[in-house]
Amino acid sequence: MAEKLFLEVVTPQKSVVSEEVEIVVAPGSEGEFGVLKGHTTFLTSLKLGTLRYKGADGKERYVFINGGFAEVLPNKVTILAESAERRKDIDVERAAKARERAEKRLASKSPDTDLIRAEAALRRSLHRLKIKDIK
Ligand code: ATP
Repeated sequence: MAEKLFLEVVTPQKSVVSEEVEIVVAPGSEGEFGVLKGHTTFLTSLKLGTLRYKGADGKERYVFINGGFAEVLPNKVTILAESAERRKDIDVERAAKARERAEKRLASKSPDTDLIRAEAALRRSLHRLKIKDIK
């Protein structure tokens, strides 16, 4: 069995997490899945959601994931996300403004509104706020 499990979370813009972990729980598009070291290799897509992991210090941490892919190897989990932030880096004011913008667009019922885009923005903002709310 592999000695350690490493977690890498990257987006096109930045590296969000790069550390040794005990366990990772990720929002797979077919449902949430958990990974411990020594897990069988697999590849899956991810949906918008919360990635949880326990660091080497035993503390549970939360990361917002806006869809993407996960590659699971016995000693490494790599997450490629469209966007992602650690809970501590989520800017509540920015998420609240994004929610307001999206709600206004959806309420305007203008034929120019891209409803799918506005709904996706609303989902991202609501989920960011939800993660910030975790006690
Ligand atoms: P906004 O309309 O506020 O830009 P968004 O949902 O459209 O929000 P994304 O496209 O998901 O933003 O992300 C763009 C970049 O901004 C990413 O690097 C993401 O991590 C960052 N980001 C977006 N919203 C927040 C937030 N509330 N707090 C911290 N970082 C954020």
